[in-house]
Amino acid sequence: MAKNLLSIKDLSKDEILDLIKFSNSFIDNEGNFRKEDLFPDKTVANVFCEPSTRTKSSFAIAAGNLGCSVIDFNIDNSSVQKGESIFETVDALNLMGVDLCVLRHPESVIQDLAEALPKMVFINAGEGSISHPTQALLDMKTIIDHKNSLDGLKIVIVGDLDHSRVTSSFVEGISNFSIDSLTFSGHPEMCTKYQNPQIGHYEPDLDKALDNADVVMTLRIQYERFDQELNLDLETYKNAYQLSSEKLGSAKGDVIIMHPGPVNYVEITEAVYDSENSVIREQIANGVAIRMAVLSRFLSG
Ligand code: ASP
Repeated sequence: MAKNLLSIKDLSKDEILDLIKFSNSFIDNEGNFRKEDLFPDKTVANVFCEPSTRTKSSFAIAAGNLGCSVIDFNIDNSSVQKGESIFETVDALNLMGVDLCVLRHPESVIQDLAEALPKMVFINAGEGSISHPTQALLDMKTIIDHKNSLDGLKIVIVGDLDHSRVTSSFVEGISNFSIDSLTFSGHPEMCTKYQNPQIGHYEPDLDKALDNADVVMTLRIQYERFDQELNLDLETYKNAYQLSSEKLGSAKGDVIIMHPGPVNYVEITEAVYDSENSVIREQIANGVAIRMAVLSRFLSG
């Protein structure tokens, strides 16, 4: 296994499946996370230079459940506000004995940091719009929990795909498997990178895209990543791309609905979020189990 988890491409298909299987061992029969003092001598720093609720908290909880010391590094109160670069910041943590750095950063700095600081293990918790490998692992685990396998499925991803690191890592992850079809849908201006994708195809008509779907992943509009202000009529957008119960009528009866969060209820209705097909809240819980598995494997590496 690679020393760092910078991209889902760092993992082979067997390693992906092993991490997913291993993550199940951290959940007991009642659905609670096991707490075991497996790494009392390890220190994990959570360095988030972009907002986060689920990823940041789940890494902190996962590290705590494994008996690690956790530094929940608050960038807003750090020397980054005094002009210090991310390199000096993370090097300072390295010199203080931090073993593993969980990093979220708007720019692609993690590769260079990992090369510059070889004693530290790096786990990518979100790299701009480029990648988010542990999200892809928890998404694949959630699908396997419900469908037993990733093979043979019709998967649809709809929303602001161009800015979505969730989409890029998920696509890289599932490219290891023999899925039946992968359909990208959403506003053409938010799917420019997916009009002629390497795997799958683009279908601007969401009703057509959803036909016979097994899995539908919805994504919010990531306003914070647009260079120019978005001139969008939200009602028109919702009519075309909001996942509603009516639109889902053409999907399979046991379709599962996913969303990485946060949900804005523009991309999905509250009724679909709350429906029995929705596994969105399971994804959040799976995030802890997957991150316990990832931290265990990479701390033992
Ligand atoms: N939470 C996900 C991310 O960090 C998705 C999102 O922000 O919309 O990329």
